[in-house]
Amino acid sequence: MDIAEEIPTTGLPQLPEPEFKTFEELESEVRLYCRKFPAVFERAKGAELFAEDGRTFIDFFCGAGTLNYGHNNDFIKARVAEYLAADGISHGLDMYTVAKREFLSAFADTVLRPRGLDYKAQFTGPTGTDAVEAALKLARKQTGRSGLVAFTGAYHGMSRGSLAVTGSRRARRAGGVSGQDVTFVPFEDGPQGPFDSIGYLERLLADPSSGTELPAAVILEPMQMEGGVYPASPQWLRALRELTERHGILLILDEIQAGCGRSGQFFCFEHAGIVPDIVTLSKSLSGYGLPLSMVLFKRELDAWEPGEHTGTFRGNQLAFVAATASCELWRQEAFHAQLAAAIGRLDRFRGELDALAQGLVLRGSGMALGIDLGAAGGPERAERLQRHLFERGLIVELCGRHDEVVKLLPPLTVDPGVLDRGLELLRQGLLAV
Ligand code: PMP
Repeated sequence: MDIAEEIPTTGLPQLPEPEFKTFEELESEVRLYCRKFPAVFERAKGAELFAEDGRTFIDFFCGAGTLNYGHNNDFIKARVAEYLAADGISHGLDMYTVAKREFLSAFADTVLRPRGLDYKAQFTGPTGTDAVEAALKLARKQTGRSGLVAFTGAYHGMSRGSLAVTGSRRARRAGGVSGQDVTFVPFEDGPQGPFDSIGYLERLLADPSSGTELPAAVILEPMQMEGGVYPASPQWLRALRELTERHGILLILDEIQAGCGRSGQFFCFEHAGIVPDIVTLSKSLSGYGLPLSMVLFKRELDAWEPGEHTGTFRGNQLAFVAATASCELWRQEAFHAQLAAAIGRLDRFRGELDALAQGLVLRGSGMALGIDLGAAGGPERAERLQRHLFERGLIVELCGRHDEVVKLLPPLTVDPGVLDRGLELLRQGLLAV
């Protein structure tokens, strides 16, 4: 995970093995996940990763939510392979290409129109933070205001603008980021318990002496992931939508990690029946782990002038091809049946964990489950559990303010047998550690 206040570097496994030498010698100390999951991975399929030394791992981390359809999904792979074999354009700046047209049409037909959403799309640089930067910039340009409201526990990226709306002090310090006109408000729920964020915001806006100007936008993850898996309730989201609308504040929902089906619906905000002004998508958008980021916004918010926000890698063509295929998955009944079955299995497991009565707090929605060990051993137990599971062939990542929450993100298309095997390893691990 990327935001824990203190990532315990001393407790991480040392890697003296010869196969790690090249990395240790030549790659920066900034590397992280390789320290938690010390293996050299070579191949992957579905929810499984294969290391060069012959070990197999069940992957419940899935590229931090980038592989919602699993590793090397056959349906998507066939399209990408076909496109490569036909010498399809592989790089096109933001020129018109067949691949982009097909994606835009497929996304509009499959995702937007059936949900009554009339958004325009902007392709940004390849990573999630690029989409967040563009969204914030557009909100400021559109409203002519500079202030932003963000929430405690939020994670929006590691570049300057997105760091400014990210909660982690550690990440902010590393980025040399200070205020940047951002007001932080406690999220609906968090380690300190529930909070009346809406009432607090209401006060800030109503009080001429609150020290806070009318902001350009409120930005949030409808399900906070890095902060510890805290899904916002539909009522809270609706109240926030009502408040922002009433005050003429743009509502930006960052669906980068929890979007593209993770919550059980394509967008997390669908559970609340609201329409945000701006939405950021990335991670699982291409469906194949290929970099693709996009900002969606209401048609009337398109205040951009040509070339005002550019970038060399906007709209990776191979990613467009993969993303078009991913849209097709959403049109297949078999995919929806698979997703519903997987959610059913994960829900059952959640019930079993509850019955273990270990003081675990369980949160999440759809195919995202956070197991909070805050009151049941804390970060130290979570780290031991993560290592224990890795040694037994299961990859899970930690999140939360102090890495005290085990985050499960199996593919939406996970094979039931593999899912059950992984969950059983986890159940045994919780009893053993
Ligand atoms: N927003 C959210 C909600 C995220 O989870 C992340 C990545 N963890 C980002 C933004 C930033 O994405 P990227 O790492 O691709 O820049």
